[in-house]
Amino acid sequence: DHHMILPRIRQLDEGAVNRIAAGEVVERPASAVKELVENALDAQATRVTIDIADGGRTLIRVTDDGHGIDANDLPLALSRHATSKIDGSDLLNIHSFGFRGEALPSLGAVGRLTITSRATGASEAATIHVNGGRIAPARPAALRGGTVVELRDLFHATPARLKFLKSERSETMAVGDAIRRLAMAEPSVAFTLRDVSEGGDRVLFRADACASLADRLATVLGRDFAENALSIDAEREGFRLTGHAALPTYSRGNAVHQYLFVNGRPVRDRMLTGALRGAYMDVLARDRHAVAALFVTCDPVLVDCNVHPAKTEVRFRDAGIVRGLIVSGLRHALAGAGHRASTTVAD
Ligand code: ADP
Ligand code: MG
Repeated sequence: DHHMILPRIRQLDEGAVNRIAAGEVVERPASAVKELVENALDAQATRVTIDIADGGRTLIRVTDDGHGIDANDLPLALSRHATSKIDGSDLLNIHSFGFRGEALPSLGAVGRLTITSRATGASEAATIHVNGGRIAPARPAALRGGTVVELRDLFHATPARLKFLKSERSETMAVGDAIRRLAMAEPSVAFTLRDVSEGGDRVLFRADACASLADRLATVLGRDFAENALSIDAEREGFRLTGHAALPTYSRGNAVHQYLFVNGRPVRDRMLTGALRGAYMDVLARDRHAVAALFVTCDPVLVDCNVHPAKTEVRFRDAGIVRGLIVSGLRHALAGAGHRASTTVAD
């Protein structure tokens, strides 16, 4: 018999939808920082400054000198699936960090978000504020150019998420890691990360505009890395591998210093890290890890970066080619430097 009440289907309101999306896009302060800095880079900024307080929990402020947002577009920037970066006709041909139009509405759903911007050529700036998904009308503001995005009290609207945050120290470290990755992706942009917590104003990371990737890697990973790294340049069937990989003698006890990029985007990908491990297999002890910053580039149609809302995962049309390229490209470079894989030494 049918005593149960038939569940009816309802449309969730925009606030709930944005909070759900925020769960995927903004895992922790570092993911908010990543989204905001990517927006600055997409706006052609040459200088990006990131201020955080309490590991990003109470304040994240990203200031850029990019092209800004037209005052009339400010409400749209906060609305879901609204973007200036793609027109939706070709999701396989993406040249910007952003394209989903989800970051700002998500951040506005889980924190107090204020965007102040002055578009190139505009006579004045405007500011808009959103809190818990409620958008206040845009107002005129004072700003000489570029954009300032301020996110206060992240997750105050979602206490469950707040509880999952780690110590201030580890959230700050994760923010630093996200910025170092983007700094490696864009050597010509100047980056400054400051901790502006109550009672302490200090620079945590700084990279001036660099003329080359090598210079930027030396800034971010240190002169030691630069002096112990091989320059990589290999190609296979439409994929190119460039970057720098350290000699086995400069290995580490963990894999945190492996930076991988696909078409300029920092990614975390098992296949790529697996290939890196495979390349060093014969020259590194099991508990040692290579240090490397490697860039895979290809026609955007050969890789899908729309796998997850955080955009850090990718799917290659042919992963086997990319794996082979990494393994052979690195082994070749290592062999050239006298570090031969045991199999090669034998023959
Ligand atoms: P997406 O980056 O995927 O387009 P976002 O929600 O991150 O989505 O941003 C929405 C829109 O707001 C962007 O498409 C862009 O037009 C604008 N925008 C956001 N941040 C900036 C910025 N720092 N400078 C200029 N425009 C920005
Ligand atoms: Mg974005």
